[in-house]
Amino acid sequence: MSKRISVLGSTGSIGRQALDVIRTCGLEAAALTAGHNAKLLEEQVREFKPRLAVLLEESAAKDLRVRVADTGTKVASGVSGLVEAAELDCADTVLTAIVGIAGLRPTMAAIREGKRIALANKETLVCAGRLVMEEARDFGSKIVPVDSEHSALFQSLQAGRRCEVKRLILTCSGGPFYGKTQKDLESVTREDALKHPNWAMGAKITVDSATLMNKGLEFIEAMHLYEMPPEKISVVIHRESIIHSLVEYYDNAMIAQMGTPDMRLPIQYAFTWPNRTPGPATPLDLTACGPLTFGAPDLESFPSLALAMDAAKRGGNAGAVLNGANEAAVGLFLEGKIRFLDIPRLVERALERVAFVPDPSMTQVLQADQAAREEVLCISSQPF
Ligand code: NAD
Ligand code: MG
Repeated sequence: MSKRISVLGSTGSIGRQALDVIRTCGLEAAALTAGHNAKLLEEQVREFKPRLAVLLEESAAKDLRVRVADTGTKVASGVSGLVEAAELDCADTVLTAIVGIAGLRPTMAAIREGKRIALANKETLVCAGRLVMEEARDFGSKIVPVDSEHSALFQSLQAGRRCEVKRLILTCSGGPFYGKTQKDLESVTREDALKHPNWAMGAKITVDSATLMNKGLEFIEAMHLYEMPPEKISVVIHRESIIHSLVEYYDNAMIAQMGTPDMRLPIQYAFTWPNRTPGPATPLDLTACGPLTFGAPDLESFPSLALAMDAAKRGGNAGAVLNGANEAAVGLFLEGKIRFLDIPRLVERALERVAFVPDPSMTQVLQADQAAREEVLCISSQPF
């Protein structure tokens, strides 16, 4: 069980909920890192008294260093600061709650130190799943998922042996645009996309949940995490987000994990596994949660999911291209520069244009990410 945790991305949605778990469960924060939110990071430093605090920009870190000089917390900056937080001696666990491929470097650094990885940053596995899992095996680092679906699978997989698994079933809320046609989706706005029915999350993952790319990234994440071929993973729409995912075994038993849509439960389990302790998550009232419904995803209106499933089947650098193109396209959408349906269009074009590499090295993964981003910027700068 974890005792001292380096929280990478402590000012974000997952990071703040993780600190709630740390506070309630009597754990310690060894390091806290943020992008730009120095004000919140300072409050967190004062409450949790970590060994190290990190901000992205050195100028902001310099200022914070002066302001928290009374606390004994060291302040660092940039990617080297993130890596230092990931490698910190006194931490037994690293929570990766940074958004996007930026999480890859510190995650690899923590793995090489043999830390437990409480993995929220799914993009790391989507881009470099094979390399990350191999490294974790070699360095004896345990990767415990934070993503609610993967935590549900992790818990449900404890009911049988891996060779007895027929299928992993990822549940999907359907997002804010469930039931809409391609035509309806032509006119949706950034504000519409940022209204998720069940979960309050960071902007990037909220848009991914609206396109269903989030489920596609989770499909690839599950494939790597549980060494399952894509044919043994499926997606089912479950609007209520009460069943967080299921494992079907060869005898046709389905084992599911249920709970309120509250990320503090999977975050806590990533820290306390293999134990369970009381914690802050909201309990589920079965008599009040209403009927549970299930349906098939609409791959025509939500092509991002189909693109990701296809990238999962192709393997190689396709995950890195898909993810890099998606990060760039979602960034443009959030800046108001492209429309909602342009996101899957740009991802599809990038997947066609970036050269396929069957068994990429880390350098080739990073090159694929960069090439995909460049394709998206290039294509979106002209009418397409
Ligand atoms: P968020 O945007 O709310 O928070 C991200 C955090 O990372 C912030 O502290 C931010 O300052 C920091 N950050 C962002 N970019 C950075 C960079 N380049 N360098 C250093 N720090 C950076 O995001 P979130 O919703 O908490 O999601 C974090 C990760 O967890 C994502 O990979 C997401 O897919 C995954 N995840 C989130 C949820 C959720 O409920 N929010 C659920 C499952 C998985
Ligand atoms: Mg999820």
